[in-house]
Amino acid sequence: MDRQQEFVLRTLEERDIRFLRLWFTDVLGTLKSVSVAPAELEAAFEEGIGFDGSAIEGFARVHESDMIAIPDPGTFQVFPFEGGASGESARMFCDIAMPDGSPAWADPRHVLRRTLARAAERGFTFYTHPEIEFFLLEDLPADGSEPRPVDSGGYFDNTTHPVARDFRRQTVLALERIGISVEFSHHEVAPGQQEIDLRYADALTTADNVMTFRHVVKEVALSQGVRATFMPKPFTHQPGSGMHTHLSLFEGERNAFHDPTDPMKLSPVARSFIAGLLRHAREYTAITNQWVNSYKRLFPEPMPDNINEVPAFVSWGHLNRSALVRVPAYGKPNSARVEIRSMDTACNPYLAYAVLLAAGMKGIEEKYDLPPGAEDDVWGLSDAERRALGFEPLPQDLAEALDVMAGSDFVAETLGESVFDFFLKNKRAEWEAYARRVTPYERRRYLNIF
Ligand code: GLU
Ligand code: MG
Ligand code: MG
Repeated sequence: MDRQQEFVLRTLEERDIRFLRLWFTDVLGTLKSVSVAPAELEAAFEEGIGFDGSAIEGFARVHESDMIAIPDPGTFQVFPFEGGASGESARMFCDIAMPDGSPAWADPRHVLRRTLARAAERGFTFYTHPEIEFFLLEDLPADGSEPRPVDSGGYFDNTTHPVARDFRRQTVLALERIGISVEFSHHEVAPGQQEIDLRYADALTTADNVMTFRHVVKEVALSQGVRATFMPKPFTHQPGSGMHTHLSLFEGERNAFHDPTDPMKLSPVARSFIAGLLRHAREYTAITNQWVNSYKRLFPEPMPDNINEVPAFVSWGHLNRSALVRVPAYGKPNSARVEIRSMDTACNPYLAYAVLLAAGMKGIEEKYDLPPGAEDDVWGLSDAERRALGFEPLPQDLAEALDVMAGSDFVAETLGESVFDFFLKNKRAEWEAYARRVTPYERRRYLNIF
């Protein structure tokens, strides 16, 4: 037993923790949890916990269903706010293995680990810093009607309202207590919409943190009598919720994106990385924006007051919020980074970070040239102007995104064949279920006119 494992066992005993949750994530980004009694943990470290992989979305076919969850002691956290009368609870993330001990190809954590290891072979560590947007609602109506936001605030408003008034503070405190540092939090543009930005960390830690974050936000909302949703676009006439993520590569202690001699302070590594993000953007969009609803955020109905901060076109820019990749204002050398603005909060963060890193690394390895940036609002240009500048649209809906992804060797290689195939099959079924349905919108529009 190693020191981390011993620490976990000692902490459970000293704090008399009775519930230890083992977490992992299915291919679609849903959190899965199994509780073990502390007495079982020593064996779990050694042999893992067996479960039926065929019951988890995307994990296995029925004839190879036995899988094993192996807790990662480095992710152990006590959840001081959760146990209620029964005392504290704790959790650890797991890596998933096959019965012979080899990593399960379908485990999203493994997909990310493998991609990180490839970058590490070239001397790079990948850091990410997510800005997570979501809605706080009074209810989550099951009949498909519009939910009611908890407030009528707007961007940076310091709202006071009778429900969930202390929500962001309570959430930030809860996150800090379990070791997730928060940098900023504020009210976003739409009524009820919130944003909380996590401090940067290596991408595996951040992806774990995003999974934990969603859970904590939902719990704090419930404890205040409201509900939280990470659905990308709950309201037709309000902005959706994105998860912009700032990306950087480090070589040891040095930020590999920074170059003091460049006018934009961007190193050749950063430029090729951005070029990779752009060239493969249409191929990986199904992963960063994985739901039918995701595309209604990227291609919204025109907003009443022209709020259009979504990146529907493949372009990059300095300080430009309509670009897919934005280079923020220069800060300290070690904070050089680029922001990807397409991905939404309902993605699988492990798979999304894997495809983004792989796209950037391809740009570096194959020395892609960075095309000229967009300094104007890309939404304000005409289609012809955008074509002339080479700003292709991202896929307009899930069906198109899947078609582009299906032809991508790069995405197949990054995800591995089994995740790639499962994902396409599952998502095509989702698209068909949606597209074949006759909607109230169609009846309103066509019943009367023909
Ligand atoms: N909510 C916007 C989106 O869907 C982003 C607003 C912002 O720039 O933070 O991406
Ligand atoms: Mg925001
Ligand atoms: Mg942002």
